[in-house]
Amino acid sequence: MSDYSPLETLIRKQIKANGPMPVSRYMQICLTHPQYGYYLKRDPLGRDGDFVTAPEISQMFGELVGLWAASVWHAMGMPAEVKFIELGPGRGTMMADALRAVKILPAFREAISVHLVEKSPTLRDKQREKLADAAHVEWYEQIEDIPEGPAIILANEFFDALPIHQAVRKETGWHERAIEIDGDDALAFTTAPNPMPRFDVLLPPVVRAAPVGAIFEWRPDNEIITLARRVRDQGGAALIIDYGHLRSDAGETFQAVARHNYTNPLRNAGLADLTAHVDFQALARAAEDVGARAHGPVEQGAFLKSLGIETRAQALMKNADEDSQKLTTAGLARLTGPSPEGMGSLFKVLGISHPAIQTLAALSDQEAKS
Ligand code: SAH
Repeated sequence: MSDYSPLETLIRKQIKANGPMPVSRYMQICLTHPQYGYYLKRDPLGRDGDFVTAPEISQMFGELVGLWAASVWHAMGMPAEVKFIELGPGRGTMMADALRAVKILPAFREAISVHLVEKSPTLRDKQREKLADAAHVEWYEQIEDIPEGPAIILANEFFDALPIHQAVRKETGWHERAIEIDGDDALAFTTAPNPMPRFDVLLPPVVRAAPVGAIFEWRPDNEIITLARRVRDQGGAALIIDYGHLRSDAGETFQAVARHNYTNPLRNAGLADLTAHVDFQALARAAEDVGARAHGPVEQGAFLKSLGIETRAQALMKNADEDSQKLTTAGLARLTGPSPEGMGSLFKVLGISHPAIQTLAALSDQEAKS
């Protein structure tokens, strides 16, 4: 018994009391349980943590995002006050780099107030430290709590951490996937006995045609719809960056990462990061359905190059020592290069704006979306 993490003990109790636990509930408990949730008590980022994100790879990432935000502010008609919002800011590195980069644009810098949505007290502390000299910051539990007003909203590797549902295609229809305790007393996947009624109708056609055994993953629309409604009603735009696919499709991407390695998502509950790929077509469609405008998605490599990352890298290397030059070169390759080492094509970038904003920098619509 004592071999289980405290969270697994709790999850087992719930399964014994209530029956199999849907994947979405499992993921939600593992990541954000107030006492034992993965994000609540630790800083998972960086070399000594579990995973590394783009802002932690190179300062160029946050700097270019800052300049992107400045161009959005221009497109918004340069309002005297704009809320600079970030969802899930991690260590606060991207925001710090963005704010430093826009110092060269004092009118924009003065218009900005910083608002962070973060559930983790540990990471709030890191953000407070990182941004101490840069800005006055307000924190919130959720997007809905941020006061009204035009906003520029950033979300890097936020959506992948939001719980997914999974369904398995059977002869009888689509059955929600859940987690049970199996005959060997281990946590294991199972499916609900009954198919979800009329689920087919909600599916993208390509998924409707998926063979028996296929898995489909989806997220509730709450966050994207809240974002989309906010920019639609109060002006501004959101930038969503994450790993995922341009088009909705069947396939399993639910994964656990600890110490930079994949692990079994059903072991060590609360001790590994659980994520799943982001379905960018579903995000864009949900935003358009409520009357916001979607821009892209485009691949991260193309986005950063279009914002001038190569020029920025050259500028950084000019007066730098050899070690820093190597870091900049490696950072550029990692952020824009191909898989498996590079994030350039696996990561996608989607803009969501007020419908009156026709284009957003580096996010033109040439990438297909139906
Ligand atoms: N954007 C950062 C961190 C990514 S990790 C970076 O790129 O480095 C995911 C971040 O989202 C963490 O800050 C985590 O605490 C936060 N987070 C995860 N789920 C959340 C939720 N449901 N509500 C608010 N923040 C959440």
